[in-house]
Amino acid sequence: MKHLFLIIGAPGSGKTTDAELIAKRNSDKIAHYSTGDLLRAEIKKGTPLGATIASYVDNGQLVPLEIVMDTIKNAILNNDKEIILIDGFPRSVEQMEALEEMLKQNPDIKLEAVIEVVVSEETARERVLGRQRGADDNEEVFNNRMKVFLEPLPQIEKFYESKGLLKKIDGERSIEEIVEEMEKFILEKVKS
Ligand code: AMP
Repeated sequence: MKHLFLIIGAPGSGKTTDAELIAKRNSDKIAHYSTGDLLRAEIKKGTPLGATIASYVDNGQLVPLEIVMDTIKNAILNNDKEIILIDGFPRSVEQMEALEEMLKQNPDIKLEAVIEVVVSEETARERVLGRQRGADDNEEVFNNRMKVFLEPLPQIEKFYESKGLLKKIDGERSIEEIVEEMEKFILEKVKS
Protein backbone atom coordinates (compact mmCIF):
# COMPACT_ATOMS: atom_id res chain seq x y z
CA MET A 1 0.00 0.00 0.00
CA LYS A 2 1.29 3.45 -0.95
CA HIS A 3 0.16 6.39 1.16
CA LEU A 4 -0.34 9.53 -0.90
CA PHE A 5 -0.37 13.08 0.47
CA LEU A 6 -1.03 16.06 -1.77
CA ILE A 7 0.21 19.49 -0.77
CA ILE A 8 -1.40 22.53 -2.32
CA GLY A 9 -0.89 26.25 -1.78
CA ALA A 10 -0.39 29.56 -3.55
CA PRO A 11 2.85 30.26 -5.41
CA GLY A 12 5.27 31.25 -2.64
CA SER A 13 3.33 29.41 0.07
CA GLY A 14 6.43 27.32 0.80
CA LYS A 15 4.79 24.01 -0.08
CA THR A 16 7.82 22.64 -1.96
CA THR A 17 10.33 23.66 0.72
CA ASP A 18 8.18 22.15 3.48
CA ALA A 19 7.64 18.84 1.68
CA GLU A 20 11.30 18.60 0.69
CA LEU A 21 12.45 19.00 4.30
CA ILE A 22 10.00 16.39 5.55
CA ALA A 23 11.16 13.90 2.90
CA LYS A 24 14.81 14.56 3.80
CA ARG A 25 14.14 13.97 7.48
CA ASN A 26 12.34 10.68 6.71
CA SER A 27 14.22 9.47 3.66
CA ASP A 28 13.76 5.80 4.60
CA LYS A 29 10.02 5.98 4.02
CA ILE A 30 9.01 9.28 2.39
CA ALA A 31 9.50 10.36 -1.24
CA HIS A 32 8.66 13.88 -2.41
CA TYR A 33 7.87 15.30 -5.84
CA SER A 34 7.10 18.88 -6.75
CA THR A 35 4.89 19.04 -9.83
CA GLY A 36 6.47 22.39 -10.78
CA ASP A 37 10.01 20.97 -10.39
CA LEU A 38 9.18 17.87 -12.44
CA LEU A 39 7.81 20.08 -15.21
CA ARG A 40 10.83 22.41 -15.05
CA ALA A 41 13.14 19.36 -15.25
CA GLU A 42 11.45 18.33 -18.49
CA ILE A 43 11.90 21.87 -19.88
CA LYS A 44 15.64 21.70 -19.05
CA LYS A 45 16.01 18.51 -21.10
CA GLY A 46 15.24 20.57 -24.20
CA THR A 47 12.82 17.99 -25.63
CA PRO A 48 9.76 18.89 -27.77
CA LEU A 49 7.64 17.98 -24.74
CA GLY A 50 9.74 20.39 -22.66
CA ALA A 51 9.15 23.18 -25.18
CA THR A 52 5.38 22.61 -25.00
CA ILE A 53 5.52 22.69 -21.19
CA ALA A 54 7.59 25.91 -21.22
CA SER A 55 4.98 27.70 -23.30
CA TYR A 56 2.54 27.29 -20.39
CA VAL A 57 4.87 27.62 -17.38
CA ASP A 58 6.46 30.85 -18.67
CA ASN A 59 3.04 32.51 -18.69
CA GLY A 60 1.80 31.08 -15.41
CA GLN A 61 -0.77 28.92 -17.18
CA LEU A 62 -1.64 25.35 -16.26
CA VAL A 63 0.14 22.69 -18.30
CA PRO A 64 -2.40 20.48 -20.18
CA LEU A 65 -4.11 17.69 -18.24
CA GLU A 66 -2.59 14.71 -20.03
CA ILE A 67 0.99 15.91 -19.50
CA VAL A 68 0.37 16.58 -15.80
CA MET A 69 -1.34 13.23 -15.21
CA ASP A 70 1.53 11.35 -16.90
CA THR A 71 3.99 13.27 -14.72
CA ILE A 72 2.07 12.43 -11.55
CA LYS A 73 1.58 8.76 -12.47
CA ASN A 74 5.30 8.31 -13.18
CA ALA A 75 6.20 9.96 -9.89
CA ILE A 76 3.92 7.67 -7.89
CA LEU A 77 4.77 4.44 -9.66
CA ASN A 78 8.53 4.93 -10.10
CA ASN A 79 9.59 4.65 -6.48
CA ASP A 80 9.27 2.13 -3.70
CA LYS A 81 8.77 4.41 -0.68
CA GLU A 82 5.77 3.82 1.54
CA ILE A 83 4.72 7.49 1.69
CA ILE A 84 4.59 9.85 -1.28
CA LEU A 85 4.23 13.61 -1.03
CA ILE A 86 3.29 15.50 -4.18
CA ASP A 87 3.07 19.26 -4.07
CA GLY A 88 1.39 21.51 -6.60
CA PHE A 89 -1.34 19.04 -7.50
CA PRO A 90 -4.28 19.10 -8.09
CA ARG A 91 -4.55 22.61 -9.46
CA SER A 92 -7.86 22.29 -11.29
CA VAL A 93 -11.16 20.50 -10.99
CA GLU A 94 -10.35 18.35 -14.02
CA GLN A 95 -7.06 17.25 -12.41
CA MET A 96 -8.95 16.37 -9.23
CA GLU A 97 -11.40 14.27 -11.23
CA ALA A 98 -8.63 12.57 -13.21
CA LEU A 99 -6.92 11.69 -9.94
CA GLU A 100 -10.15 10.12 -8.62
CA GLU A 101 -10.23 7.94 -11.74
CA MET A 102 -6.57 7.00 -11.31
CA LEU A 103 -7.14 6.06 -7.66
CA LYS A 104 -10.09 3.87 -8.64
CA GLN A 105 -7.87 2.00 -11.06
CA ASN A 106 -5.01 1.66 -8.56
CA PRO A 107 -6.50 0.44 -5.27
CA ASP A 108 -3.01 0.00 -3.80
CA ILE A 109 -2.64 3.81 -3.71
CA LYS A 110 -4.47 5.46 -0.82
CA LEU A 111 -5.03 9.21 -0.79
CA GLU A 112 -4.51 10.02 2.89
CA ALA A 113 -4.95 13.81 2.87
CA VAL A 114 -4.77 17.02 0.92
CA ILE A 115 -2.73 19.54 2.90
CA GLU A 116 -3.27 23.19 2.07
CA VAL A 117 -0.51 25.58 3.12
CA VAL A 118 -2.38 28.84 3.67
CA VAL A 119 -0.70 32.24 3.21
CA SER A 120 -2.08 35.68 2.43
CA GLU A 121 -1.74 37.05 -1.09
CA GLU A 122 0.69 39.74 0.20
CA THR A 123 3.01 37.13 1.71
CA ALA A 124 2.89 35.06 -1.48
CA ARG A 125 3.67 38.11 -3.61
CA GLU A 126 6.60 39.24 -1.42
CA ARG A 127 8.14 35.76 -1.37
CA VAL A 128 7.79 35.08 -5.11
CA LEU A 129 8.97 38.48 -6.28
CA GLY A 130 11.87 38.29 -3.82
CA ARG A 131 13.16 34.93 -4.98
CA GLN A 132 13.28 35.27 -8.81
CA ARG A 133 13.62 31.53 -9.35
CA GLY A 134 12.73 31.54 -13.03
CA ALA A 135 11.12 33.39 -15.93
CA ASP A 136 7.73 33.01 -14.25
CA ASP A 137 8.71 34.99 -11.13
CA ASN A 138 7.72 38.49 -12.27
CA GLU A 139 4.75 40.57 -11.19
CA GLU A 140 2.55 40.08 -14.22
CA VAL A 141 3.03 36.30 -14.27
CA PHE A 142 2.63 36.16 -10.48
CA ASN A 143 -0.79 37.84 -10.77
CA ASN A 144 -1.81 35.29 -13.34
CA ARG A 145 -0.54 32.34 -11.29
CA MET A 146 -2.43 33.65 -8.27
CA LYS A 147 -5.62 33.93 -10.30
CA VAL A 148 -5.14 30.44 -11.74
CA PHE A 149 -4.56 29.13 -8.19
CA LEU A 150 -7.56 30.85 -6.60
CA GLU A 151 -10.17 30.19 -9.26
CA PRO A 152 -10.72 26.42 -8.69
CA LEU A 153 -9.71 26.49 -5.00
CA PRO A 154 -13.20 26.66 -3.43
CA GLN A 155 -14.34 23.62 -5.40
CA ILE A 156 -11.17 21.68 -4.61
CA GLU A 157 -11.47 22.53 -0.89
CA LYS A 158 -15.14 21.61 -0.80
CA PHE A 159 -14.59 18.27 -2.50
CA TYR A 160 -11.81 17.12 -0.19
CA GLU A 161 -13.47 18.61 2.87
CA SER A 162 -16.57 16.52 2.19
CA LYS A 163 -14.37 13.42 2.10
CA GLY A 164 -12.70 14.40 5.38
CA LEU A 165 -9.35 14.70 3.60
CA LEU A 166 -8.63 18.44 3.75
CA LYS A 167 -6.04 19.66 6.27
CA LYS A 168 -5.23 23.37 6.36
CA ILE A 169 -1.90 24.48 7.78
CA ASP A 170 -0.96 28.08 8.59
CA GLY A 171 1.95 28.90 6.26
CA GLU A 172 2.66 32.31 7.77
CA ARG A 173 4.86 30.87 10.55
CA SER A 174 8.53 29.85 10.55
CA ILE A 175 9.54 26.94 8.33
CA GLU A 176 10.42 24.91 11.45
CA GLU A 177 6.93 25.30 12.92
CA ILE A 178 5.19 24.49 9.64
CA VAL A 179 7.37 21.45 8.93
CA GLU A 180 6.91 20.20 12.49
CA GLU A 181 3.11 20.31 12.23
CA MET A 182 2.98 18.84 8.74
CA GLU A 183 5.41 16.02 9.53
CA LYS A 184 3.52 15.05 12.69
CA PHE A 185 0.23 15.03 10.81
CA ILE A 186 1.62 12.83 8.01
CA LEU A 187 3.34 10.30 10.27
CA GLU A 188 0.33 9.98 12.59
CA LYS A 189 -2.06 9.56 9.67
CA VAL A 190 -0.05 6.66 8.28
CA LYS A 191 0.27 5.00 11.69
CA SER A 192 -3.48 4.97 12.34
P1 AMP B 1 5.05 25.79 -8.94
O1 AMP B 1 6.51 25.51 -8.91
O2 AMP B 1 4.25 24.80 -8.18
O3 AMP B 1 4.71 27.20 -8.56
O4 AMP B 1 4.59 25.63 -10.48
C1 AMP B 1 5.17 26.40 -11.51
C2 AMP B 1 4.37 26.26 -12.79
O5 AMP B 1 4.34 24.90 -13.23
C3 AMP B 1 2.90 26.66 -12.70
O6 AMP B 1 2.70 28.05 -12.81
C4 AMP B 1 2.31 25.89 -13.89
O7 AMP B 1 2.61 26.51 -15.11
C5 AMP B 1 3.09 24.58 -13.83
N1 AMP B 1 2.39 23.59 -12.97
C6 AMP B 1 2.78 23.17 -11.73
N2 AMP B 1 1.91 22.28 -11.22
C7 AMP B 1 0.94 22.12 -12.16
C8 AMP B 1 -0.25 21.36 -12.24
N3 AMP B 1 -0.65 20.55 -11.24
N4 AMP B 1 -1.00 21.47 -13.37
C9 AMP B 1 -0.64 22.25 -14.39
N5 AMP B 1 0.46 23.02 -14.38
C10 AMP B 1 1.26 22.96 -13.28
